[in-house]
Amino acid sequence: MKVLISADIEGIAGVFHPEQTRSGNGEYEAARRWMTLEANAAIEGAFAGGATQVWVNDSHGGFRNLLPDLLDSRAQVVLGKPRTLGMMAGLEYGAALVFMIGYHAMSQTRGILAHTINSFAFARVSLNGEEVGEAGLYGALAEEYGAQVALLSGDDVFANETAPRFPGARFVVTKSATGHASGVTQSPASARAAIESAACEVVQHHVANGHPSQATRGAAKPVECELRVQTSALADLFCQWPTITRVDAVTLRFGAASAEHAVRMLNCLSAMSFMLR
Ligand SMILES: [Zn+2]
Repeated sequence: MKVLISADIEGIAGVFHPEQTRSGNGEYEAARRWMTLEANAAIEGAFAGGATQVWVNDSHGGFRNLLPDLLDSRAQVVLGKPRTLGMMAGLEYGAALVFMIGYHAMSQTRGILAHTINSFAFARVSLNGEEVGEAGLYGALAEEYGAQVALLSGDDVFANETAPRFPGARFVVTKSATGHASGVTQSPASARAAIESAACEVVQHHVANGHPSQATRGAAKPVECELRVQTSALADLFCQWPTITRVDAVTLRFGAASAEHAVRMLNCLSAMSFMLR
């Protein structure tokens, strides 16, 4: 059974401040090490539970935060951007189960460092009328590829908002939010222990229940995406894209052939937004 782990940094135990998520300072160097070690805990647990292959995808910022030197040598690592499937890159090579480690709550919620893809650009994102964060967006993409989202970790706000979307999945809560940049965290070591044992149990469960070891890609369904952006200037820019309709000053709408296409559109818009920074 092949497992793809997507690792972000904002939901990692001990991470509370934007400084810890940006390169160029000592706090970030500590945080990326914790991120690498939480990914390792998931890798260790997955192999112990019966996974035959584990890929780990660096899913934060420039997608090059994980420290390959420290990573479990049995895993393959997906690094760098741009790349077509973003936080799910690697899925095009097949995976039966997806783990989302170090994820965070969606934009405009009370989770730690909550945002959706790009906090400068996007205020709210809905797919087919349902408000989604990164887990919802990339989870829909994973499901199109036939993979099941089986394990997620992050803060309590992330777990509470995401649990209804993935009813069969296991959550590890690494910390509790008391504000955008404050809260109460497990120690990195105890978060790792919880992730490792959950990863092991999740894979064991899927192996024991005869879950197919390779995903089969189903037919993609068209989706409708509604987007609230942070400023009308951003809306002016994004509406240069011919298939985007403007609903009001800061609300936009577009249809996409699949969840994958919707996510790719959002990532293109995110890249475009850098011209207004
Ligand atoms: Zn991130």
